[in-house]
Amino acid sequence: MRKPYKPLLQQWAWQQSAACRGMDATHFHSPRGEHRKARREREARARQVCASCPVLASCAEFALDYREPHGVWGELSERERGELARRSPR
Ligand code: SF4
Repeated sequence: MRKPYKPLLQQWAWQQSAACRGMDATHFHSPRGEHRKARREREARARQVCASCPVLASCAEFALDYREPHGVWGELSERERGELARRSPR
């Protein structure tokens, strides 16, 4: 079950400290028609950014709570989040 929505500013406040702040979203989100190898490489680069991010845990928790369907969030790809959600539904 999803958590109830918080006021928008509170919900996104953690992003003020994000390592990816200001970066182009294409580093974290798959363009249409992206091939498997390109996706693996893009996700690996995104994870490198996430690895030094001070809000990694908040980011991953947010993406899992709100079932973010696209992109790398908190080092987790959409496929990895889906696997976690299937193993331990919230
Ligand atoms: S964990 Fe990754 S995607 Fe999330 S805010 Fe940090 S750098 Fe961005």
